Amino acid sequence: MTTEKLYYTDVTCKDFTARVESQQETAKGPAVALDRTAFYPTSGGQQHDVGTLNDIAVRDVWSDAEGRIWHLLEKPLDASSVRGSIDWDVRFDHMQQHSGQHLLSAGFMRFLQANTLSVHMGTAVNTVDLDLPQLSWEEAFRVEEEVNRIIQENRRVAIHLVGEEALGDFNLRREPQVCGVIRIVQIEGYDASPCGGTHTPFTGQIGLVKLTAIERYKGGIRVTFLCGMRALRDYRHALQILQQLGAQLSAGSDDFADAVARLQDEIRILRRSQQQSQETLAEIEAQQLWQAAPVHNGARRIVKHWETRSFSEIQALARKLRELPLTTAFLMVTEGENLRLICTRSDDLEKVDAGACMRTATRELGGRGGGTPTLAQGGAPLGTAEAALEVLNRVLSMEM
Ligand SMILES: [Zn+2]
Repeated sequence: MTTEKLYYTDVTCKDFTARVESQQETAKGPAVALDRTAFYPTSGGQQHDVGTLNDIAVRDVWSDAEGRIWHLLEKPLDASSVRGSIDWDVRFDHMQQHSGQHLLSAGFMRFLQANTLSVHMGTAVNTVDLDLPQLSWEEAFRVEEEVNRIIQENRRVAIHLVGEEALGDFNLRREPQVCGVIRIVQIEGYDASPCGGTHTPFTGQIGLVKLTAIERYKGGIRVTFLCGMRALRDYRHALQILQQLGAQLSAGSDDFADAVARLQDEIRILRRSQQQSQETLAEIEAQQLWQAAPVHNGARRIVKHWETRSFSEIQALARKLRELPLTTAFLMVTEGENLRLICTRSDDLEKVDAGACMRTATRELGGRGGGTPTLAQGGAPLGTAEAALEVLNRVLSMEM
C-alpha cells in the first residue's frame, strides 16, 4: 500500500498529523511508515526532507517498491499518531533548486533543443546533464538570462494530477516515467513536465538561477547551477575572494589581469637574476674547494657531504668543479632518508671514470647509480656520513 503524499508548498502547511502504520528496525536505525506524510522521499534527483516526528529527528526518507514512505528516526518512536514537522528552510531551498532546474531544462530545450538526460540536486550544488556535443558560455548565458527573466515575471507554477488520456492537453517537455495518474508541473506559458518533486508556487520565489560550471560528461554536457539563497551565498563568497585579492594586489578587480601579469614578469626577472647569482656563487665555491683540496698524484680530490643543501645546488657546483684543471670530486647531500650523490672529473683526467666510481661506491653503500666517465649520479640509504665519505675517498683513490 502507498503513503498519501502531502505536497505542501506553503510555509503555513509545513506541519501535519498522521497515524503510524508500521515500524521496523533497519541497518541505519529505527524507521516508521505513516498513513500520510509531507516528508519528501529522495527521488527524481531531489534530496529528502528533514524535520521531526514527535520531536524526534528524521534522518532519511525513502520510498519502497510499494510506494510506502519510510522515515529514518534518530531514536525509536513510541506512539500510534504523530505530529510531523518539516524543516522549512531546507525544504524551501530544495523547492528553489528543483524549480530552477525545471526552468533551466526548459530553457536549454527552447534555445538549443537540448534534452535533459539526468539531474542531480546536491546539498551544495546541482547539475543537469544535457545531450549536447558542446556548450559555450555565450550560449549558456543566453539560457541563464531568459530563465532569470521568467523568474522576474513571477509566473505561476501549477500542479495538475491527470489521467494518461489527458496528457495530450499538455505540451510535455518529456514523457512521464510512471503510469496511471500523472503529476504535471506547469510553469505558466513556459514549460510542462511530469514530476513528483516539490516546487515553488511562483517562479519569483526561485529568486535567482546562476550557472557556475560547464564540463564534458559521458559524451554530453554537464551544467552546474545554484538557485535562490545558494546563488546569493555563492556571489557573496566570490565577492569576498575578489576583495581579498584586491587588497593583496592593491588593484580593483578590473585590473587584476594586468596586476597578475606584472607580478609574473617580476617573477621571471627575479628567477633569471637568482639563477645568475647561483651560477656565480657556485663558481666561487668551486674555486675555494679546489684551492683547499688535497692533491693526490697531481690531481685535486674534493669529497664532501652536506646535510641541508638541495641536490640541484650541488649539481651546479659539480658542473663548475669539472671545469677546473686536474680535478676529481665526489659530492653528496642528505635528502630525507637517503643520500644523493654526484661524481665528476675534469676533462684532462681521462683515466678516471666517474660512472665506474659511482657504481662501485653506491654498490658498497647499498644503493645504485651510474653515468658517463665525466659525470655520474646515484643514491643510497642514509647511513653515517663519515662512513660514506670514507667509501667515496677510497673509491676515488683507487682510480688515481
Ligand atoms: Zn520537479
